[in-house]
Amino acid sequence: INAHLAQTEKLASIGQLAAGFAHEINNPLGVISCYADLIDKQVKGNAQLKEDVGVITKHASLCTHVVESLLNFARVNKPEFLMHDLHGILDDILSILRHRMEKVGVTAQTRYLATGVELPLDPEKIRQLFMNLVINAIQAMDKGGELTVSTRLVDASHLEVTVADTGVGISPSDRTRIFEPFFTTKAKGVGTGLGLSVSYGIVRQHGGTIDVESTPGEGTCFMVTLPLRAKETKNKPPTDRG
Ligand code: ADP
Repeated sequence: INAHLAQTEKLASIGQLAAGFAHEINNPLGVISCYADLIDKQVKGNAQLKEDVGVITKHASLCTHVVESLLNFARVNKPEFLMHDLHGILDDILSILRHRMEKVGVTAQTRYLATGVELPLDPEKIRQLFMNLVINAIQAMDKGGELTVSTRLVDASHLEVTVADTGVGISPSDRTRIFEPFFTTKAKGVGTGLGLSVSYGIVRQHGGTIDVESTPGEGTCFMVTLPLRAKETKNKPPTDRG
């Protein structure tokens, strides 16, 4: 498991590397576009040259698009922690997605055992995290199935949320790659391959862990563990402020 986590971490950091790279590419790319525009304005009489410059402009803007999506993906804005309950967030997600689940014959149930618990979290990020997991679960059950969202206290200082589905499952070889940025098995336009890598980052920002168990053909269960109290370490959630 440790080796797996180390690899996961390495893969998630590829996204940040890519973002640094994107920054470096952005400036020269801007210069290329700018000069192509300048040439374009001077070649009015020469149709062939105008067309050639058009190709440069078009491909430079394709690059710009790729760079922008990389930057978007890696935008790691700082989380803002407050003491907050989880069940409200989870219920919201399920109700937002209810219609979508009905359409594909997915039924949802909740098993909330950790009731009345507040923990230090960034509600928006946690919403995004579980939204990603639940949408993945629904997409894994396009012929219907059952979604179960559960919470329980693991010990005195950790709460576990599980998102379980009865969908297609994940093959052992895919399982080593699912947290990798841009890894997707979904059709273009359906999947970006960023959901789990972003989710992994959010869990880490909260000082938690994320893991997965899956049986192909039977289903998948994502387990997220979050600390109940903030640790007083750098990059960890701050202690509650009064
Ligand atoms: P995306 O959903 O855009 O493909 P993710 O990072 O969220 O990107 O997921 C990566 C891949 O992990 C998916 O393409 C899919 O193969 C697999 N996956 C994630 N969640 C599940 C699930 N609940 N059941 C089956 N496969 C899953």
